[in-house]
Amino acid sequence: MTAGIPLLEGGCHCGAITLAFSTALVPASTAARACDCSFCRAHGAAWLSDANANAQLIVHAHRPEHLRRYRQGSETAQFLLCGACGVLVAVVFDEDGDTYAAVNAGCLAARETFAPAVTASPQTLAPAEKTARWRQLWIRDVQIQA
Ligand SMILES: [Zn+2]
Repeated sequence: MTAGIPLLEGGCHCGAITLAFSTALVPASTAARACDCSFCRAHGAAWLSDANANAQLIVHAHRPEHLRRYRQGSETAQFLLCGACGVLVAVVFDEDGDTYAAVNAGCLAARETFAPAVTASPQTLAPAEKTARWRQLWIRDVQIQA
């Protein structure tokens, strides 16, 4: 975690995977993005991220065998799911040795304090536009501990 930055904690339902999202975002004025692709809709996922340099996400798999990765659509991003309880916790994207991520807002303990989610349609973007958007919006300091 980053010193001086509020920490939002969360994780999957069974506790096998926990999330620690350090961010200065103010929940009441931050709306998660409800992606309208078929996979995110099936999960009811809405994504939060913070591209500021002091933001950080730690995904910790207390039971590493339950950390599942799934690619869909353009297969550019990887969804992180718990193999035990099935909850979708985060999405990550690797490029040039850097990892970018967004968090599924529903997995954070503070989920009720965020502004209502807004719909986003990344599936309408070309692959290069999509990755450019993620580099711009997603968390840049990402650690996956498994
Ligand atoms: Zn779980």
